[in-house]
Amino acid sequence: MAKYSIIVPAYNEEKALQFFYDAVTPLMRSLQEEYEIIFINDGSRDATKEILRGLADLDKRVKVCNFSRNFGQQAALLCGMEMASGDAVIAMDADLQDPPEVALEMIAKWKEGYDVVHGRRKKRKGETVFKRATAYVYYRFMRKITKMEMPADVGDFKLYDRKVVNALLSMGEHDRLLRAQTAWVGFKQTFVEFDRPERVAGETHYTLKKMVKLAEAGVLPNTDYHLTFPIKLGFLLSIASVLCFITFIVLSCIGVNFGGLVAWLFPSIAFLGGIILVCQGFANLHTSMIYKEVQNRPKYIIAEKYNFDE
Ligand code: UDP
Ligand code: MG
Repeated sequence: MAKYSIIVPAYNEEKALQFFYDAVTPLMRSLQEEYEIIFINDGSRDATKEILRGLADLDKRVKVCNFSRNFGQQAALLCGMEMASGDAVIAMDADLQDPPEVALEMIAKWKEGYDVVHGRRKKRKGETVFKRATAYVYYRFMRKITKMEMPADVGDFKLYDRKVVNALLSMGEHDRLLRAQTAWVGFKQTFVEFDRPERVAGETHYTLKKMVKLAEAGVLPNTDYHLTFPIKLGFLLSIASVLCFITFIVLSCIGVNFGGLVAWLFPSIAFLGGIILVCQGFANLHTSMIYKEVQNRPKYIIAEKYNFDE
């Protein structure tokens, strides 16, 4: 019999929590397997803490972690994974925007042998055109620049097999976007689709500023494109300026007038700029190597092991 851990970050969700509990509990009970619901109270300033206390008193399957302050949804998800004891971990928002019945579909996929089941949003109700447009651009940009298969229209509503959870927990970095890390670790991944409803109560916590931070956390730890780009640009500039020099020399040899001394200034500056960029780029490359060492990610992840016991 499998055990499931539902992990739920909650920040000022006093209005939504009872709805969430009432929706999820009967579904999980219907499975007739073991489960736990772990709420991570991310430093809420409303009655979230008291409400969770009440739920935990009534139901031993409800577990709660209270953060000392607001650390953000990504940190809450990390905590949930660390505390979870299930064979499969399902991350869900507290506001019922991740429909609980879809979690059952995820469990069915997991039983078929998938290690990660992403919830993919078909429709995005109650989201502004701006949010949709930025999400669209971001995921396409992200895939191009990081060369990772980070799926579009996918948030943190996912099921993770135990071995995926262990792999994610072995990644040490502080700046984390779980979605990007999930793409990085690999394993057998699949999707279930769902219509994303509006939140059941309360308001979104994601301001533009928080979204930008999240976007950075997804890109910068997973690419060194911005660091190596100066090398490419520098070489390009240097080559262009050398070609320019050669053209000028040929022109002056055959006696064509092309602007005198001032004209030579252009390729000279470009050449110097090119050299500076290349040097800077190499220094950046070194920074990138140091960053990877500091990140101290595992160099590989083993998906399965056979006959290795003892
Ligand atoms: N959340 C959190 N810490 C934060 C912000 C949000 O734990 O600093 C939780 C929030 O309670 C919810 C989930 O993360 O369960 C998603 O947040 P929200 O619904 O505000 O985001 P949206 O669905 O609008 O993108
Ligand atoms: Mg929400």
